[in-house]
Amino acid sequence: MKEFEAIYDKDPYVKTFEATVLSCEKTKKGYEVELSDTAFYPEGGGQPYDQGTINGLFVEEVHKRDGRILHLLHEPIETGITVTGQIDWERRFDFMQQHSGEHMVSGIIHGMFGYENVGFHMGKVIQIDFDGPLTWDDVEIIERKANKAITDNIRVEYLYPDADELEQMPYRSKKELSGKVRVVRIQDIDLCACCGTHVAYTGEIGMVKILSCIKHKEGVRLEMIAGQKAFLYMQEIFTQNHAISVALSAKMNETFAAVNGLQKALVEKDRMISVLNEKYMNYKLDMFMESQKLLMSFEEEMDRNAMRKFANALVHDKYAHVGAVFSSHENEYQYVLVSDGFDLRKIVKLLNQALNGRGGGNSEMIQGSFHCSQDAIEKMMYEVEKMI
Ligand SMILES: [Zn+2]
Repeated sequence: MKEFEAIYDKDPYVKTFEATVLSCEKTKKGYEVELSDTAFYPEGGGQPYDQGTINGLFVEEVHKRDGRILHLLHEPIETGITVTGQIDWERRFDFMQQHSGEHMVSGIIHGMFGYENVGFHMGKVIQIDFDGPLTWDDVEIIERKANKAITDNIRVEYLYPDADELEQMPYRSKKELSGKVRVVRIQDIDLCACCGTHVAYTGEIGMVKILSCIKHKEGVRLEMIAGQKAFLYMQEIFTQNHAISVALSAKMNETFAAVNGLQKALVEKDRMISVLNEKYMNYKLDMFMESQKLLMSFEEEMDRNAMRKFANALVHDKYAHVGAVFSSHENEYQYVLVSDGFDLRKIVKLLNQALNGRGGGNSEMIQGSFHCSQDAIEKMMYEVEKMI
């Protein structure tokens, strides 16, 4: 098969074809089958390989090696027979939409800024690296231009220039090319040497959406999607935004302001809670006698920060040697013990063992949780008091 003469080159819209089996070789991965002609695109030029079936057998991978296109099957197939190939069209058409969309975006950026596409990867999203900087404002203009070119429904053309013509042609390419080169032209938007499969008219790309633009080496890395994939993604984003808009009773185009307002309200609530906590702690502190060996307080659902603050206050404001705060939560007690001289490491193991607990700390503060009753904790703490 000569270059550019496989079915997928001549007509990328062929989904079913007939061909003769030239060879079938067993390899580690399965059976590599070569056909007299094929519509299966082999991996190359950044575009992944096609999948589908040959006589009903699954074609898992397709690669080009030494000028031969090899289809990887799990089962052998008889040489010499005529077979029917069937392309997984959903997969292939997605690649055609993505790849053609990528050409438009790369061409528009090349036209506006003169940057080259220096890296291209087609996975769940398309990743393109450019050798110059772009702002998000630039990205939005590029995106608008690309989508305008989609509604203009421009024909995607293939040129096969000879060496002299190629020399004169201002086409984009990642490497120096020689031999027969195919150049893909999208009017004045793009001119690029490429062997991938493309849509016939830009309208079939449907939509282009750039997802991100981050600094990469001397330039930027763009992530984009096109076609049905872009539509489904936008639909998902719409659903999310709609749910936020309903939850916050905000218009769909004012959800960010609503979330911002909510965040501010939360900060204010946190501030109020800490003021109330402070008042509550001072109120509780007034009920304790000063200068004790041990002071303890049982609370409900107190957060750890407040517990630490409270235990510290028991030691430093009320001059206890050890301040202990317990807070019940579901069927366990959180604990924070603070000390001003008594080494808490001496008792932490003992407490955890006796009260079915876990946790630790240093000589001045220990914290963790106990699985037991308040009664059991009180009894154990009276034992601790004797040791202080
Ligand atoms: Zn290409």
